[in-house]
Amino acid sequence: MDSLAFQIKSAALAVGYEKCGIIKIADMAGYEDKLNERMEYLPQTKPFYERFRGFAHLQDTYSWAKSVVVCVEQYGKYQMPDHLQGLVGKAYLFDSRIDEHTAGYQASLQFEAAMQKMGLKTEAKRKFGITAVRWAAVKAGLGIVRRNNFFYTESGSWVHLEAWLIDQELELIDTPTVKACSEHCNRCVKACPTASLAKPYTMNPLSCISFLTTFGGRDLPQETYNAQMGGWIYGCDACQDVCPMNKNRWEATGEFPFLAEISEHISLEKILSMDYELLQQILTAKFFYITKDDVWKWKVNVINAMVNEYQEKYKEAIYAACNNSHAKVRKMAEWAVKKLNLS
Ligand code: SF4
Ligand code: SF4
Repeated sequence: MDSLAFQIKSAALAVGYEKCGIIKIADMAGYEDKLNERMEYLPQTKPFYERFRGFAHLQDTYSWAKSVVVCVEQYGKYQMPDHLQGLVGKAYLFDSRIDEHTAGYQASLQFEAAMQKMGLKTEAKRKFGITAVRWAAVKAGLGIVRRNNFFYTESGSWVHLEAWLIDQELELIDTPTVKACSEHCNRCVKACPTASLAKPYTMNPLSCISFLTTFGGRDLPQETYNAQMGGWIYGCDACQDVCPMNKNRWEATGEFPFLAEISEHISLEKILSMDYELLQQILTAKFFYITKDDVWKWKVNVINAMVNEYQEKYKEAIYAACNNSHAKVRKMAEWAVKKLNLS
């Protein structure tokens, strides 16, 4: 093993990463075939996937880059507020990408500084990733991608991945010890509410609830899958929650910084009645896929969830939303009144 590669891995483990591997930059090239395969199977996803093509050609932008360092951070070790189960995806609740209070964010900074101290030039994109991290992690032998498309280590799928480019050609490949999916298991495909996971390893991102509750789903009254979105208001865990390979993989030993405080503000009724400034302050700082300018999207998602899981106590809140200051929210609330036959 190259001693610099070994030093990098030791530095990653020392700051708390579960795993670390290194692949040569040329190993990212195969990612393009995967992208092409996806776009051929689902041509409507072409505009979505096309923007990731650069992940396979990193040297076009970073001519100095020689290798990709990829690390795994386990997040399935924090206490989960019960009332957020089925409402907000766990990857977003325990997201350390932009929150400097979290151990994951600090680990990322420390690890990057350690690599630079070793004389390496580094580059990362902490928010959305500098390359295709699942592809890189599989190539580095850190785990496997299962039939639900999620990356798994021995900790299940409750892990975040992070990647850095470095200017030295190194390689550090692990051997995954996790068992492959049984050919007879189809639980994730069956559990997908929108059939976005149409068959094993094949997911249409445009109909995935994680997309529809964040970047997509901007006209929910007309959205084909609005009923199938159920009670989710940001993200979806259905295909991970049912997976037997995630059974007993959530350890819940620690508290995630400020999650208890933020989660007190998260309920369908509270979000629908919250003023926009507070919504921006509380939710946008953590759940950054919905930007400050688009916080109305939270209310629209909430009304959709109220319609799908209707209770009498939501009636007044839906009526009140018919007079909301944002036209998108008013339209959604009026749609809900008709859909539920409230008037
Ligand atoms: S996250 Fe939800 S909607 Fe997306 S593929 Fe999984 S089960 Fe389907
Ligand atoms: S539910 Fe079954 S098929 Fe799907 S990822 Fe888990 S083990 Fe694999």
